[in-house]
Amino acid sequence: MNPEESIDSVVARWSAQARWTVVTGAGVSAASGVPTFRGAGGLWRSFRAEELATPEAFRRDPRTVWEWYEWRRQLIAAAAPNRAHEVLADWSRRQSGFTLITQNVDGLHERAGTRNVIRFHGSIWELGCLESCRGPARRWNDGRVPLPELPPRCPDCSGLARPGVVWFGEPIDPDTLLQSERALDCDVCLVVGTSSLVYPAAGLAAVARERGAFIVEINPEPGASDVDLVIAGKAEEVLGRMDSLIH
Ligand code: NAD
Ligand code: ZN
Repeated sequence: MNPEESIDSVVARWSAQARWTVVTGAGVSAASGVPTFRGAGGLWRSFRAEELATPEAFRRDPRTVWEWYEWRRQLIAAAAPNRAHEVLADWSRRQSGFTLITQNVDGLHERAGTRNVIRFHGSIWELGCLESCRGPARRWNDGRVPLPELPPRCPDCSGLARPGVVWFGEPIDPDTLLQSERALDCDVCLVVGTSSLVYPAAGLAAVARERGAFIVEINPEPGASDVDLVIAGKAEEVLGRMDSLIH
């Protein structure tokens, strides 16, 4: 199948009643100018993301880790949702069985108006207390750019505040896992803009497939395993084309 035929075959599965679950990663925000972790532009200073987004790195050098998050918060604040975010937001309003599971922490899906978003890895706009003085689930919003103080402090105990994201080596919030688990009972599962290397997120599509869903990967450099159809292309272009055929 050529890319156009592949797109047609996915669009043929679209209906207002069909249950579609879309799993997104950093590639969906690439066209908004938000750098991915892997691939070109994946470095900040000379650090790799795996060296910064960990509990150990934060304990060792919270200031450097916070400077990296501050840099990313500034980039994201200046960015806007792109065509990929807009199309998914539109589908989320038109399809009753639509769920979006995103690994992105940038909030661009929500800014585009997407309904039913599961934030698998948290949000860069939320902060938490490193010492969990009011429980591990307590998070608060802080959208200030720049933050007035680095590292920021917990308003309850004045201890170190941490970004409200899931770091490498940390577990996914159990409620979030449960919600995602339910969303994997679907007819079609699109895996968009993710390198499918970070677990457990990378295993979601395989679960949907075991339950009978049709899995489609959309990525200019595809690499996910266990998919039924690969569309090698950019999220903003492929989803834009699909949407123009659906309407
Ligand atoms: P990743 O950086 O590992 O992979 C990005 C993927 O996007 C690659 O496979 C690349 O080929 C693809 N890609 C690049 N441009 C694309 C485009 N225009 N359209 C479609 N695909 C494109 O990202 P990941 O798989 O999401 O995993 C990294 C982790 O880092 C995630 O858990 C996430 O929490 C975090 N992260 C988030 C953001 C964000 O919030 N925007 C950005 C970077 C990393
Ligand atoms: Zn505290």
